[in-house]
Order: sequence, then structure tokens, then C-alpha cells
Amino acid sequence: MVIPLAQAQSFVLEHVAPLPVVETTIDEALACVVGRSVYAETDVPSFANSSMDGYALRASDTEGAPATLRVVGSISAGHVFDGTLEPGQAVRIMTGAPIPDGADAVAMVELCEPGDDGGTVVVTTETPAGNFIRRRGHDVATGQLLAEAGTPLRPAHLGVLAAQGFTTVPVHRRPRLGVLSTGDELFVGDEPLAPGKIRDANRHSLLGLIRQEGWEPVDLGVVRDDREALLDAFGRAGESCDALITSGGVSVGDFDIVRIVLDDVSGDSMRWMQIAIRPAKPFAFGTLANTNLPVFGLPGNPVSAMVSFELLVRPAVRRMAGHATVFRPSVCATATVDLARSRDGRVHFVRGVVSLDRQGRYVARPLEGQESHQLRAMASANALLILPDGEGVGRGGSVRALLSYPADVAAPSDDLPTGEADW
Ligand code: AMP
Ligand code: MG
Repeated sequence: MVIPLAQAQSFVLEHVAPLPVVETTIDEALACVVGRSVYAETDVPSFANSSMDGYALRASDTEGAPATLRVVGSISAGHVFDGTLEPGQAVRIMTGAPIPDGADAVAMVELCEPGDDGGTVVVTTETPAGNFIRRRGHDVATGQLLAEAGTPLRPAHLGVLAAQGFTTVPVHRRPRLGVLSTGDELFVGDEPLAPGKIRDANRHSLLGLIRQEGWEPVDLGVVRDDREALLDAFGRAGESCDALITSGGVSVGDFDIVRIVLDDVSGDSMRWMQIAIRPAKPFAFGTLANTNLPVFGLPGNPVSAMVSFELLVRPAVRRMAGHATVFRPSVCATATVDLARSRDGRVHFVRGVVSLDRQGRYVARPLEGQESHQLRAMASANALLILPDGEGVGRGGSVRALLSYPADVAAPSDDLPTGEADW
């Protein structure tokens, strides 16, 4: 029976759960998802300091400027002024240095001139209290929320946490995902190919997809279409991985061993599906009865395997990783050519290129080579264009797209001159 994509997605999502929360060293936590909300324990900055190179002074001394003040010291970042600033005095101060006791403002150096006797400075304009002072807690105040549970950690979070003096952060464990290719035709080694053999593309693209998400890939190699070899690989995966991703062997052929073996060892949790999408129609999912290891059985065609990862594995593993949102949002793009298709009961995911027009709006075009073994087009694509069942979308019509690389959506080179912004 052919089922809608949403039903297949719900099934896999129901069978996975967020991984445990572990204290992880900050520098190993990038892209991990915060497991418990983290709050500030100290003020940052922890002391009032100067945001300019200039002179620390008493604001009241500069009323009716110019004002001549006696320079009683000089401090740079990392050093303190010993003592208290008295009326009529100034301290030369550099960015980041603590404001001396008694001072309540900083005059920027550009507005000061040396005095006549060498020991004084002339402040040329009135300096209001608080001028160029970064007060304590101005960035972060004690008790403030720094990273909410469910937040994927970005580089700025790591800096914010480190500024608190935290060395670890509670995050969901980074998923460890085993990748296995199956098929008697897969040739391992760099010698010339024997007749009928092909090289393994899928393991490498799937390992890359995993690494790209910030997850930990485990290369489990290639197995023949052989029951014992597959069971052995399932065992190895169960020992070291949070989930296993296989490719090949889930169609209706006699040697589609993943479907057959997974059915035997997953009990009731196994579903072999025909999903109403193109590519990536066949898919199997099961949780191994002995180890509880979730196994995603992807189709063998290289484009199908990657699309299956995007639509079924990625959402499930995002759930395991602790993400609050698991599906990639789609954007709306204008088709620059006809995106014709025929009615076949399936949603088509067309490998395409999405770019920006002069107004900064998305435009989309399909690539040549839309069959499921044509991986080269996948490599040139930055998006999957979603064509629901029907006649397709005409030129100028609107199409939804999943952007694989949102940050890399570029202006067409013949549309905007290099480097010229349109805003
Ligand atoms: P299967 O899903 O096992 O029926 O395989 C479908 C097609 O994908 C066949 O043409 C296989 O030879 C091919 N294929 C399977 N696994 C891989 C792989 N790891 N790399 C490249 N092509 C593969
Ligand atoms: Mg096969």
C-alpha cells in the first residue's frame, strides 16, 4: 500500500526519542541542543569599564568646558588604578580598563588636548556622566536566560557561556549514526572495477550529510546481500550507535535483504513502506528487538538515498538530538521555467537551483537529470523543488522549495554586479 509522506514521517518520529542530556565541554558542544535552560550566574561585564581610549574623569569637572585636569595615572585593559580620583583629576584609560573609583565618565581621546605643563589634559567639551562607560551587567545580568532548552548551540552561545566561566553545558548527546551500504554489486577497493560491479557512492554522501548536521558518523562499511553479514553489522551498530542508516535492499526484489532481515529482527516495530513520493518511494524502518536500535532502511539509488535521508532520517534524528523543530521549513520561489509533471499520485522532489532575483526574492529552476541514479544533478542542486501531484507549475508560478543550503543562495551572477548590494 502506498502511504502519504506525512504518515511515514509520523511513524518514524513516534519511534525515536530525545537522547539523554549530558554535561559537555563547551568547545565540543557546537550544534548540540541545550537540554536544560542555562541562566547567568554572574554579571558581564563584571566591573564598569571604558568603551573608549580616553580620560576617566568626574563629569562635573567638565561643566563649562574646556576644562584642564591633572593626569594622575594611566591604565590599560587588565590593570587597575590604585586609589580614588579626586576632583580636578583625570586618569588616562584604554578600552576595557576598569573605571577608577571616583570617576563617572570617560572623555574620548580625540576630544582632549595635552595641557601646557605636560602633567595636565584639556578636555575640550562637556562630558556627561556615564559617557563611554560599560556598566556592570550591561551585556548579561545575573539570572538572565542565556540558552533555552531546545536551542541549538551556535558559536556566540559558546562565547556567552565561556564569559560566565562555565566550562560545560548540559546538552542532548550528539547522535552517533552508523552508515552501512548493502549490495553484492558494491566493489570495495581502488582497483579497476570487476564486471558488473559499481563503487559505493551512498555511504560517502550519507556520512557527509550526517557530519553536515553536526552529528557523529560511524562508518560501518559495506555488506553483501547476505543475511548473516547483515545481522553481524546490526550487532556492531547496536554496540556503538544511536541509530543505523542502511542503503539498498528495501525494494521488492528477491535479494532485498534489508527488508527481509529487518522484518525478522524488529518484531512489530518494522514497517516496510511505499511512500507517495518521487524519488525515494521504498523505505523500511524498524527498531531492533534485542538492542532497541532504530534502523532506517533507505533505497539504494543514490539520489533516493539522499532524499530519503532529508525527508525521513533528518527529522527523526533531529528529534533524537533534542531539536524543538524537526522539519526543514520550505520557502516560496517563482519558477523561471515550466515545471511540468504528470499526475501519478506522488509528490515530486525535483533537484533544482534556487537563487535570488534583483529584489531579493527567490527564483527556482530545475536541473537536467532527474532520475534517481543521477547523483550529479543532486551535487549541482541547492534545493528540492516540491511539486504536489498534478500538472506541475508553469513559468512565473509559485513553487515551494526545501533549501539545502540557505546560506549559499546566491544572486545570479548576470543579474547583480559582483559585490553590489541592492539595499
Ligand atoms: P537497491 O535499492 O538495492 O535495489 O538498489 C537500487 C539501485 O541503487 C541499484 O542500481 C544499485 O546498484 C544502486 N545502489 C545500491 N547501493 C548503492 C551504493 N551504495 N552506491 C551506489 N549505488 C548503489
Ligand atoms: Mg540491492
